[in-house]
Amino acid sequence: MFTRLLLVMPAPMEIPDTIACIDCGQTAHRLTAEPEFGFEPGDWVAYRCSGCGDRWDMEVAGEPDAPGAERN
Ligand SMILES: [Zn+2]
Repeated sequence: MFTRLLLVMPAPMEIPDTIACIDCGQTAHRLTAEPEFGFEPGDWVAYRCSGCGDRWDMEVAGEPDAPGAERN
């Protein structure tokens, strides 16, 4: 399963190592290593659930009206 979703995360810091899986509630671990200078708005961070194995891709949120907020 591959799931992509948009999560509003405070940027550029405070990217958690783990999140709670949206599907099963178990711990999902971050796959993406933190860049040397930290995450920036628009970066994608992947998590893999240890329970159901789903992958979650989170976009680091930036300014509320930042360009590129809408994507297909
Ligand atoms: Zn899960």
